[in-house]
Amino acid sequence: MRFTKIVATLGPATCSTENIERLAKAGVNVCRLNFSHGDYAVHGQTIENIKSVNKKGFSLGIMLDTKGPEVRTGDVKQPIKISAGEKVVFAFKPGLKQKMKVITVDYPKFSDDVRHARCILIDNGAIEFSVLKIEKNGSVIAKALEEGTIGSRRHVNLPGAHISLPSFTEKDWSDIRFGIERGVDFFATSFVRTGKDIKMLKVFLHKHKSEGEIIAKIETPQAVDNIDDIIDASDGIMVARGDLGAEVPFEQVPAIQEMIVAKCREKSKPVIVATHMLESMILSPMPTRAEVTDIAFAAKLQTDSTMLSGETTTGLYPFKAVAAMDRILRVSERVELRYREKQFLSFQQSLESDLPRREQALAASVLATKLRADAIISISKHGNTARAISHCRPLVPIHAFVEEDSMMRKLMLVWGIVPHSIDFSDEPEVTLNRALALFLKQPGVKRGDRIVIVSDIRTNDVPVMTIQIRTIS
Ligand code: PGA
Ligand code: MN
Repeated sequence: MRFTKIVATLGPATCSTENIERLAKAGVNVCRLNFSHGDYAVHGQTIENIKSVNKKGFSLGIMLDTKGPEVRTGDVKQPIKISAGEKVVFAFKPGLKQKMKVITVDYPKFSDDVRHARCILIDNGAIEFSVLKIEKNGSVIAKALEEGTIGSRRHVNLPGAHISLPSFTEKDWSDIRFGIERGVDFFATSFVRTGKDIKMLKVFLHKHKSEGEIIAKIETPQAVDNIDDIIDASDGIMVARGDLGAEVPFEQVPAIQEMIVAKCREKSKPVIVATHMLESMILSPMPTRAEVTDIAFAAKLQTDSTMLSGETTTGLYPFKAVAAMDRILRVSERVELRYREKQFLSFQQSLESDLPRREQALAASVLATKLRADAIISISKHGNTARAISHCRPLVPIHAFVEEDSMMRKLMLVWGIVPHSIDFSDEPEVTLNRALALFLKQPGVKRGDRIVIVSDIRTNDVPVMTIQIRTIS
């Protein structure tokens, strides 16, 4: 059992049906499609491929990640080589004659916004440029502080500047509509700034009858300033460290990550730690020890999910990267859980627990942990009880029995939950027996296993909330 979930971004290296199945078998829980790249034909086909893998008994969640108001460099046939100290021109529309190399950007107001920026960062900070001159025609002359190469559609960050694009561009709205039509499970929103942005998308999704969840990506200082409102308005959060570490000084990223994970855990919203987790594995079959330690740190914070980007889109070792992340998470969790066992009870008592469901979840978590149970079985149509149990971070796998397949896919993002779907009967006892029958078929379940069941039963014709302890016979 692994508690921390894995989100993998799909790309040329992984988007075929066979490869998606390999990813699922290697431990991926949610597939992310990055709409900064690719066209509808490719994304549509990839979504079909995920769905066909799910028909074989997987429940991969599907996450559409919007481009958002970001700036990228243009398409180039060959990566542009830049030497240290070289002067180049950044332009939306390059002039006819240029003595210097031209780097096109996909944003018409670039030369206006760049005035307020401390510098220009390419590829999440891989190359830094200082601005020398802004021409009237919109060309920006800048000097490279180090050497490097610039490929197609690389990130451009202007730290200190406010990009005067709306939070959702025309492209984003059309991409979101595309996702709604295909029933994606999550909309990850790039460069959101406020809780209001999220509410606006919520209204849109509601109007179009989408039940997709909104995962707000935190990648600017503005979003960090508004973090409470954003968490409250959204269904989950992504700590998007790539852009964040370019927009704020990168040394602040670990503390921001820890703060956001803690806040999300407090508010019981799933949180994803993303970007550069196994960056070196894009080219190498072996991670750096620093990357291993970064994943262990995320597991220690008990984040819901960790994420892979370039590692699984264009990397040379996508399956090895997933396997590495899986192993690092498992081992780190085991060490962390053992360490936390002693503190578990006092920690749980500090939780605010006014709702009966929260109390029930907390009691079941404490009970299962103290009894060293093998599993918690949660039976609730919409998965809310399972989420409440996950919130308590018990030291036991949570098998969630829900009604809809789409709910299973949503729970794929949430810490410690193994989702299953069953038909719900009006008779709670019948539903419970269906769940138990399916649970008994799970690999590793054996006689003598002790389970804690959180469900309703009917007594004298009224439903009663229960926690039961049973031993598999
Ligand atoms: P991106 O978002 O991969 O879409 O840029 C994640 C990040 O910025 O870390
Ligand atoms: Mn980003």
